[in-house]
Amino acid sequence: MSINGTTNTGHLAGNVLRFERSSIHDGQGLRTVIFLKGCPLNCPWCSTPESRDSGMERGYIRSLCSACGRCVNICPSGALSTCSTGDKVTYKNHECALCFSCADACLNGAVKKYGYRMTVNQVMEEIAKDEIFYYHSGGGITISGGEPLAQPLFTAAILKSSKKAGIHTAMESCFFADSQIIYTILPLLDLLYVDIKHINSKVHKKWTGEGNEIILDNLLKTSSSPNPFSLVIRIPLIKGFNDDMQNLMGTLQFVEKLPKVKLIELLPYHRLGSETYDHLGQVYNCSTLATHTTRELEAISAGMNSKSKNIPVTVGSGFNAK
Ligand code: SF4
Ligand code: SF4
Repeated sequence: MSINGTTNTGHLAGNVLRFERSSIHDGQGLRTVIFLKGCPLNCPWCSTPESRDSGMERGYIRSLCSACGRCVNICPSGALSTCSTGDKVTYKNHECALCFSCADACLNGAVKKYGYRMTVNQVMEEIAKDEIFYYHSGGGITISGGEPLAQPLFTAAILKSSKKAGIHTAMESCFFADSQIIYTILPLLDLLYVDIKHINSKVHKKWTGEGNEIILDNLLKTSSSPNPFSLVIRIPLIKGFNDDMQNLMGTLQFVEKLPKVKLIELLPYHRLGSETYDHLGQVYNCSTLATHTTRELEAISAGMNSKSKNIPVTVGSGFNAK
């Protein structure tokens, strides 16, 4: 990958899921979070399942549908039909050309479009709308996903343009990526969040579809980088998967080998986004998964802080470099 030698990347296009404005959870100050499409992992608790596929996706919200039939009549591919029972509109995925005429035609907002093809220039126009907030709050942009490194040239071009505009840059990543790609991105970052989901590779693979060797190796390489970004480790805390002390202490011991790490953030599991699985026609397999109580979260963070030599552990997002 070569973005640094490239001068005009404004017309480079990528797949964006959505923008979230004035976020206070993904870096200092007010942030514009740019969610990109596509992720190499397949975590069953994912709160943004509409970000996992790299392409555009169509969602259908049954509860909003009045069965008016507008979408059925407008579909050029014959992918939709009305149905008297169950779904008000039935959908043949393999016949859909993803033209989204149905989403435009639906007056009830029952058809969702997940994903937009955008150029870097178009993304920067969206970012520019929030610049005043960055100035007053010390915020900036955070590229998230999905996995930003799944679209490395697009991600690098957005970061490079933002840096050039004097905007603070952050990225959230699972770090399951080629190390050469990561080396190209690091000089463009002020802040980097990396997830460690489990320290045991076999368990990691069982739950996410991939082992953790590449992730941990990339972290070891990244932490000796001369680039001056801050590194924050995030652990999505999932009951029965990674919340046992053996895993958390193993993770802590590994993280203590990484001199760049400023903070470990424990992100408690929540069910926000679970209805999107249904909108996508997918099954949510974590509906019976319990969430941690405040007392349990406090006990876990206290246990980790008591063993940590120099890296603080917090519950929730709390990093602020200022
Ligand atoms: S996206 Fe286009 S092809 Fe697919 S169901 Fe809607 S109208 Fe039909
Ligand atoms: S246009 Fe919207 S409300 Fe009408 S049938 Fe289609 S999805 Fe339902």
